[in-house]
Formats: sequence, structure tokens, C-alpha cells
Amino acid sequence: MGLKTPEEFKESLRDGRVVYIEGEKVEDVTTHPKLKVAVETAATDYVMAEMPEFRDLAVVVDEKTGEEYSRYFYRPKNGEDLLKRHELMLAASRLNYTTTPFAREMIDSFNGCAITAYTMGNKDYIERIEAYLEYLKKNDLSLAGAITDVKGDRSLRAADPKQKHPDYYVRVVDRNKDGIVVRGAKVHITGSAYLNEMIVMPCRNMTEADADYAVAFATPVNAKGIIQITHPFDYHRGASDFPVDLPVRSHTDALVIFDDVFVPWERVFLCGEWQHAAMSVYNFAYLHRHTAVTYHIAWVELLVGLAAAMADYLGVSRAANIREEMTELIYYLNTMKSLARASCIDCVIQGGLAIPNPVTANVAKYFYANNYHSVVKIVEDICGGLLTTAPSYQDWQNSETKDFMDKYLGGRADVSAEARLRILQTLRHYPCLGTELDVNNIHAEGSLMAERLTIYAEARQDLTLYKKLAEVLSGVTKLSEEEYVKLVQELGVLGKGAQ
Ligand SMILES: Cc1cc2nc3c(=O)[nH]c(=O)nc-3n(C[C@H](O)[C@H](O)[C@H](O)COP(=O)(O)OP(=O)(O)OC[C@H]3O[C@@H](n4cnc5c(N)ncnc54)[C@H](O)[C@@H]3O)c2cc1C
Repeated sequence: MGLKTPEEFKESLRDGRVVYIEGEKVEDVTTHPKLKVAVETAATDYVMAEMPEFRDLAVVVDEKTGEEYSRYFYRPKNGEDLLKRHELMLAASRLNYTTTPFAREMIDSFNGCAITAYTMGNKDYIERIEAYLEYLKKNDLSLAGAITDVKGDRSLRAADPKQKHPDYYVRVVDRNKDGIVVRGAKVHITGSAYLNEMIVMPCRNMTEADADYAVAFATPVNAKGIIQITHPFDYHRGASDFPVDLPVRSHTDALVIFDDVFVPWERVFLCGEWQHAAMSVYNFAYLHRHTAVTYHIAWVELLVGLAAAMADYLGVSRAANIREEMTELIYYLNTMKSLARASCIDCVIQGGLAIPNPVTANVAKYFYANNYHSVVKIVEDICGGLLTTAPSYQDWQNSETKDFMDKYLGGRADVSAEARLRILQTLRHYPCLGTELDVNNIHAEGSLMAERLTIYAEARQDLTLYKKLAEVLSGVTKLSEEEYVKLVQELGVLGKGAQ
């Protein structure tokens, strides 16, 4: 087997999967006018492996067999490995015109299962994890991560009889010597309609009563009983847009229904061990928050570039207020970059895998998401009202209106009105502007509260130390010189939670 070409990847998606979009059943996702855009977006991962400039980054050689496989399937052992992965995802997003391919980024969910299996020390699960990883490598597969359940009443537990029905969280409804049968639905699943496999895992902690819901497994997306209903998305530039000679890149997400899907035991990584459900989702989230910040860096670079172009075109780039705003944007972008890198360098080892520092990675994602709307506000301010009021490309093509637009919508003498209108158009189509996509930035990879909870949980040991320090220095508590030196040592360079 070995590495797939982009064409082989696309061929592998013609497998009878059940996918709907906008009321229509899709015959072939690779030729459907909308979904093929997403397929091309995902295919970048396979394109990169063939590019001499990126092959070393995208591909790893197995030390024992000499076989090549995707770096996403390589188990990071240290900070350097994590930095390579970070570099790969960033390069992939930039190559993909600031959209991540997302064909393998959800290896994070599988790695979450792997860490859980190793931490549990469950030999069966470990064997299955190792065998499945080999399968992914050998067949060069793409995969989605299906974590978020539809949940029903959020204040109730999965198995609570007060839920309207018992299927708001994916659960095991039957088991036999060959495997399990699962029922339920996951929502917002990126890429599952046009990737090969899906890693399914719980999205929250479970109690003993919820044991049937503590289930994690891998399944091909064309398995019998899987039905996907996808979200409509912006897949082409419309008649109102200036033509841009670059392909559109985009992803979409799906409501994935598991209508009694059979999963063989070889693909089951958690089944009934409710005590480990929360751990598995945390293990995934630690990894995925870093992944998210990495690909958002490429988006933010574009956002900053658009603001810089507009400031220049309007002749205000040297004005004190605009310099102040541009400084804020640069500070934002560079803080993201530094935190994302720092989380790799200060990695921790869990279940034999190097993972980005849980506190720093959550701080990075939280910093990005929590400040995102203030940053957009700055860009919107720099662009002025034309961002939402500009006439269309059709008016630019109309000889009765074009000259007026050309004359009155210009900026600095040497900048054309067309350039200004094009920059504004890119911003209007920017993946993170507008109500719908602003919401993505807050909720994708976990809501703001999810990061806050992790930061607090991971760093609370530090709070005890900081409190002790405050009490000693305030004379509330007395320590001997020796005890004080011990406290200083305990404080360490990084906080306890970050070690
Ligand atoms: C673009 C996009 C892509 C995504 N991709 C994926 C993916 O590939 N795979 C995947 O698994 N998930 C994916 N997600 C899901 C994402 O992780 C979730 O949206 C996020 O975790 C929030 O879950 P929810 O949307 O169900 O929000 P809801 O649960 O509906 O939350 C709404 C509000 O209720 C609050 N809330 C919920 N439950 C409680 C409670 N018990 N107590 C108090 N407050 C509560 C939340 O904090 C939030 O403020 C994606 C989301 C987006 C927007």
C-alpha cells in the first residue's frame, strides 16, 4: 500500500457512503458541485506529500521497514516532533490558501484514545490501537473525529430517564462475540462526509449509570447505518464577486447518525469503562486545542495582511491611531505563534506520547478565541463602512456605473478602486467574519468555558503554592529558611500544571 496520490484519495471516497446536502442525496462526493470543493481542500494533504519542497515535513520514513507514511501517523516523542507537526499543519493551511486540509488533523481523537488505553494499561485496547495505527499508515487514510454528541437536555446526564429519548449520546445497544452495535448521533463533525474513517469517542464524563455511553471506536464512514446530513457552505464566488484566479477552499460539517451501526471488536477502544470517558475526551482536547491554534495562525496572518493593505490603500498607515491598531494585531498574531510553539517545547509525556503542554495549549486557544472579536473589531474599523456597503462586481462591469466607482471609490493616488474593492471582498469572504463563522471561532474545538475549565483544573496546584507564598510574605504563615527555599524550588520555572 503506502502513500496515496491525491487521485487515489479521491477514488477512495467513492464507496457508497450515505451523505445528504440541502435536501439531496449525494451520489458521489468527489463530483458533487459543492462537496468536491471540500474534497479538493482535504486532498492538499496528499498533494503536499508529493511536493519536493514539503515531502520531508509531510512524510516520515519507518526506521524498521523503510516504508514512508504520513507524519500525522507518527507518534511524537518530544518537543521537536511536536514542532515538526506544528510546522506541517501551518504550511498545509498556508498552501491551502489559509484553510487547513483537515484530512488527518483529527488523528488527535485517535491519539486521545491511544493515551487513554495506555493510561488504563488495558492490553486488548493497546493491541487494537497499535493494529489500527498500522492500518491507517499502510492505507494512508484520512479521518474525522466525532466527539460532540447532540446531547438533548444539557443539564441531564446521558442515561437520565428525564431525557426525551435515550439516544442523545452515542451508546452501545447490543454486543456479541464479534463486536458491538451503536446508536445515537454526533453533530458538527468536520470533514466526515468526505474523509475515509471516523474516530468516535464520548464528549463528557460519564457515571456508572451511563456505562453504555462510555464508548470509543473507529469506523469507516461508509459503514452500514451511518447517515450524514451536511451543512450548506460557501463553495464558489458569486456573480457579485470580482473573479479571483485561485480555487476556493472550504470545509463543511455534518450531523452524523449512527442508526444501529456494527463495530467489530478490533475497532473498539473503550466500551463501558465509564470512569475513563472524561479522561479520553480530555486527552483529545489537550492535543486538539494546539492543532486549532496552529491552523488559526494562517487565518490571522491573512486577516492582519488585509488590514495592512487597507490601511495602506486609504493612506492612513502612518496615522497614530492606525499604527496603534496595527500594533495590536501584530501583538495578537505573535502571541498566538509564541504560545503555540511554547506548548510544543514545554510538552509533557502522556501514555507514551509527547503532547503539547496542556496549560499552554489551552491558554493559546483561549487567547485566540477570547480576543478574536476584539481583533475583528479593529480590522472592521480600519476597513471603514465600505466593507459592508460596497457595490458589486456586476456594477463594476456595467459601463454606466464603472467609471463612477473607479473615480469615487479610490484611495491613495497610486492605488486603484479595484484593488480596494478586492481587499474588501476577501474580507467579506474571510472564513471568520460574519455571524455564522464568528460562532465557529468561539465553539470549534471546544467552547471558551471548556478551555477555562481545563486551565483551572490543570493549574490549580499552582494556586495553592501562590497562596502559600502570599501568606508567608504577609506573615500569615511562618516558614523556616529551609522551608522557604523548598517553596521557591517547588514554584519552578513553569507552573506545576504545565510540567
Ligand atoms: C465549525 C465547527 C466545527 C466543529 N468540528 C467538530 C468536529 O470535527 N468534531 C466534533 O466532535 N465536534 C466539532 N465541533 C463541535 C464543538 O466542539 C462544539 O460546538 C462545542 O464543544 C460546543 O458544543 P455544542 O455546540 O453542542 O454547544 P451546546 O452544548 O449547545 O452549548 C451551548 C451553551 O450551553 C452551555 N452548556 C452546555 N452544556 C452545559 C451544562 N451542562 N452546564 C452549563 N452550561 C452548559 C455551553 O457552555 C454553551 O455556552 C465543531 C464545532 C464547530 C462550530
